Amino acid sequence: MSRTPILLVHGGAWAIPDDMTEAHERGVRHALEAGYSLLAKGASAVDAVEAAVAVLEDDDTFDAGCGSFLTRDGRVQLDALLMDGGTMRAGGVACVERLRNPIHAARLVLDKSPHVYFVGEGAEEFAQAHGMELIDNSELVLERERERLKEAQAKERAGLPDLTFAGDDKSPETAAHLASHDTVGAVAVDAKGNLAAATSTGGTLNKMPGRVGDSSLIGCGCYADNLSAAVSLTGWGEPIMKLVLGKWATDRVQQGRSPEQVAPEAIAYLYKRMGGHGGIILLDPNGRYGLAHNTPRMAWGIYDAQGPRTGIAVESY
Ligand code: ASP
Repeated sequence: MSRTPILLVHGGAWAIPDDMTEAHERGVRHALEAGYSLLAKGASAVDAVEAAVAVLEDDDTFDAGCGSFLTRDGRVQLDALLMDGGTMRAGGVACVERLRNPIHAARLVLDKSPHVYFVGEGAEEFAQAHGMELIDNSELVLERERERLKEAQAKERAGLPDLTFAGDDKSPETAAHLASHDTVGAVAVDAKGNLAAATSTGGTLNKMPGRVGDSSLIGCGCYADNLSAAVSLTGWGEPIMKLVLGKWATDRVQQGRSPEQVAPEAIAYLYKRMGGHGGIILLDPNGRYGLAHNTPRMAWGIYDAQGPRTGIAVESY
C-alpha cells in the first residue's frame, strides 16, 4: 500500500525582520523542492529530510552550516541529528567545526555505525573515514556573523541585554528568550508510511565553545518513531532540553491526540514551565501534522498532495 508523501520544514522561529522574510521563505521552498522531489520518486523519508536540511545548511540565511552564529571565540560549531522512525536508527554529531554539512555526517552515523552520537574531532574523523571532506572552519564563517558577534560581545561588556531581535517588547527577559533562533529542521512521511526527522544548527550566538543545545539531542530538538510521530524543534535550547520536548510531543500523539492539537500544547508547555520560546513541526504516520510557535515569526513550509506552501508565521497559515 502506498500513501501520498508529506514533507514539512522549518527555518527557525524568532522575530525574523521584514527584510529577511523573503530569504527565509525562499530557502524553505528550495528545501521543500529538494526533499519532495525524492519522495515523489519513492525515496525514503530519511533521504528526504536529509536532502531538505542539507539545502538549508548550504543557505547562509540560516543558523546551520555556513553562515551559522559564532562561538565566543569566533568559530562555527555545528550540531545535527537524523532519525528514522521506521527502524529507530539515529545518527547525531555535535561540536563539529570542519564539516560543511553535518546532516550528511549524521546520516553516516545512522547508516554505518553501531553508535548513535559522535562529538568534536571524533565525529569529524568518522565522517572523513567515510568519505566526507574536512574543510577549514573559516570557510563556514561569514563577515556578517563576525560583526554580529562583535555587537553581542560589546553589549555583554556594557551589561546590556541583546535587544536586537526582541520585537516590540524590549524587556530583558523577552530579549533573552527571543534572540535569533534560525535552526533548521524537517519531518517527512514517505510513500511506505515511514517517518523521519532531521534538525541542524549552529547553536546560539556567542555560545561557549563545547556548548550543545537541544537540536541534535534525541527526544529534545528531534525525534521520529513510526508508532507515534516525527518532530523537529527550534528555539532557546536549554529549556527545550530540560523538558525533553520532542518526546513529550510525540508521546502525546501516541496517546491519541492529533499533531494539530499537540504542537501548540508543546509550545504552551515550554513557555508555562520554563518561560521558553520556540517553534515546532510535528507529523504522524497518517499524514496529520501540526505547526506552532510563540515567537513573532517562524519560517515554515509544507509539501503534500496540494503542492508546496510556505509561510513566515503559522497564524497566517
Ligand atoms: N535550539 C538551538 C540551540 O539552542 C537554537 C535554535 O533553534 O536556533 O542550539
